[in-house]
Amino acid sequence: MQKALISLGSNLGESLLTIENALNEIAKLEGVRLLARSALYQTKPWGFSEQNDFINALCEIETSLSPLKLLEALQGLEQKFFRVRSENHYGPRTLDLDIIDFQELILDDPKLTLPHPRAKLRAFVLKPLVDLKGDYTFANGDKALSLLQALPSSELEGIKKL
Ligand code: ADP
Ligand code: MG
Repeated sequence: MQKALISLGSNLGESLLTIENALNEIAKLEGVRLLARSALYQTKPWGFSEQNDFINALCEIETSLSPLKLLEALQGLEQKFFRVRSENHYGPRTLDLDIIDFQELILDDPKLTLPHPRAKLRAFVLKPLVDLKGDYTFANGDKALSLLQALPSSELEGIKKL
């Protein structure tokens, strides 16, 4: 069994419900066991502000799936929740599921980059991660607490715990 961290985000439709439902669906995936989940966070949208706030959360799982099979399963869930892929990369989305870290793996493939390259820049990943795991160390040696403390205040001001 391997451990992985998954970040959840939604800013379209009933986002609170979507994230709660998505956590339940992740827990039901074959070869996946939910170990822990964070509180929900509300986050100001990044890059494009003419849209709803995001609801974000993070969970830790144990899995027998390979990293790519896990990614496929998560993309299947995104489809199930009618995610809309828009022109704008930072545009609204029903559900976004990203693998933040997978055991000790370091991958530099655009299809699956591990640890997730944007994780270290985002309060909505680092805050719930520090809540769940304290000063977590990523597969590449990055420390969650130091990364969080190094974020610009603009990034920290845009997020609140629900
Ligand atoms: P975003 O980058 O905002 O999450 P998407 O969810 O549309 O955008 O993801 C685009 C692609 O990113 C996916 O098709 C997936 O193959 C790739 N990807 C690369 N690394 C990861 C990762 N660690 N977790 C999830 N998707 C990833
Ligand atoms: Mg994604």
